Amino acid sequence: MFRGWHRAGVSVGRTVRWMQHVVGGGSARVTRAGSVFTPTLADVPADASTLSHGLLLRAGYARALAPGLHMLLPMGRRVLENVSGAVRAAMDGIDGNECTMPHLVPRELWEMSGRLLPQEADSEQGDEKEGSKGGGSEIFALEDRRGKTLVLAPTHEEVFTALVAAELDSYKSLPLRLYQIGTKYRDEIRPRFGLMRAREFVMKDMYTFDVDETAARETYATVTAAYTQLLVSLGLRPLMAAADTGNIGGSLSHEFHVMADVGEDAVLQCSGADDGCGYAANVEEAGGDMAARAAGAASVEHTVLAGKATYSLQLPSGIEVNRLRLTRVLESLGHNGLDGVDVAAAPSGAMPLEPVLASASLGWEDVASARAGDGCPCCEAGELVERRGIEVGHAFLLGTKYSSGMGAVVRVPTRDGGGLTAERPIEMGCYGIGVSRLMAAVQEVHGDKDGMRWPLALAPFVATLIVPPARKVAHSPELAARVARLEAALSVLGEGRVLVDDRDMSNGRKKREAALAGIPAAILVHSKAPERAEVHIRMVTSGGAAHDEVVVVHEDAAIAAAARLVQK
Ligand SMILES: [Zn+2]
Repeated sequence: MFRGWHRAGVSVGRTVRWMQHVVGGGSARVTRAGSVFTPTLADVPADASTLSHGLLLRAGYARALAPGLHMLLPMGRRVLENVSGAVRAAMDGIDGNECTMPHLVPRELWEMSGRLLPQEADSEQGDEKEGSKGGGSEIFALEDRRGKTLVLAPTHEEVFTALVAAELDSYKSLPLRLYQIGTKYRDEIRPRFGLMRAREFVMKDMYTFDVDETAARETYATVTAAYTQLLVSLGLRPLMAAADTGNIGGSLSHEFHVMADVGEDAVLQCSGADDGCGYAANVEEAGGDMAARAAGAASVEHTVLAGKATYSLQLPSGIEVNRLRLTRVLESLGHNGLDGVDVAAAPSGAMPLEPVLASASLGWEDVASARAGDGCPCCEAGELVERRGIEVGHAFLLGTKYSSGMGAVVRVPTRDGGGLTAERPIEMGCYGIGVSRLMAAVQEVHGDKDGMRWPLALAPFVATLIVPPARKVAHSPELAARVARLEAALSVLGEGRVLVDDRDMSNGRKKREAALAGIPAAILVHSKAPERAEVHIRMVTSGGAAHDEVVVVHEDAAIAAAARLVQK
């Protein structure tokens, strides 16, 4: 970030003079634009499917190797490092311990947790146990020279749980928050949208370990608050939406969405004043008040299959079954899940589901799909509206699903206080952030046809100094002195994140490329009038707004002006 500029505050001018005194002209820590491998493109490539994808390709941040596999070039890598740094700071801020885990994980660990069936049973069935959503079928696996199967892990619940099971035995070691930032693999059915849905991507995943559910819920609140704060600091307005626990398992789950039209998730949100009552949920999970749609509608019978059991379910005409919610009800009845649902009269002998729901204090609305226009399930006045979201984070309260199966237990004092100890499975949580996906999400929100915009913390370089090429500068001692002074001052204040663009090409092209790359401050010194400088600002403010501005100032004031403008 522009920490140097920030510290300099109003005394930028004095700092610059001091720097000239100390550094002189020769030891500037700047990067020459010509030395950065940045293959830009004049036009949006045909294979760019979204705004962010097109910008990343045009600006020379990234190239595709194969579907879902991306090469991040120097500019893209710098931003990825900055996103990682921001995520790391947020996790360290809540006592996270960073680790680096192997990408290759023995398959047995996944069998221990129950996320994969034992290999023999698996090959007999010809398919993995889990469904396609983040489940077994999307897992890359390979065999080593001994014939052992290794999984290229998409998440690391098993690895961290095994570590904690081996190393911890007392509740006094809790709470514990472990995380890593690393490459993940997922055999996506449809890799697309550039960095948004890739087969190899960078993710931060944190695993938390608490002594009981109360403590685990406090951790959940702490981590989700840190997520919101982090995303806001990156210029985003995240929406925290209730979500299904899916393949990961657990009892409570939220997704963090960045709202954008290309988002692959539909979120239903309460539309009351001031973001409504705060209710938001993935459409797959959302509940709603459907009384208006149900009024006067005929009743339609559905046949629900769960294993060998057949149920009948009446829903008002035009209202569909919510498969996730129905699955949970069936699981609570001891079934493995939902095997099928048909809009058809149930065969004779089918059990009506209504009494089952009623005994759990549920009604038909609890297994029906809400949609935009339905009433908010949480408040009187609100109505649900649908928005598209890019999922950039996910939180799960896991309970003891992994710790019980893998022996991650701690000794706790017994109730009678007799000094004896009882063993208790650790309460876990898991928390992901899509680091490479965040890069794309920021541009879906803040980019435009002219280029990217970054908050200062994420920009590959905070400033670029656009000056005439060396052969021109050499002819003018006055120009050379000005350029050297600006370089020296910028190099210190920009803390190594300053570009000097002295390539032999037109100023117009240099300005266009700076805008395309989303460099927050471009300071342009003309060879013909070197005492004047143009300062071009193009960035995301700390308030999450796009800030584009051009000012022309005396060259002496250029850096101070840029520093002031980027602090907005
Ligand atoms: Zn509401």
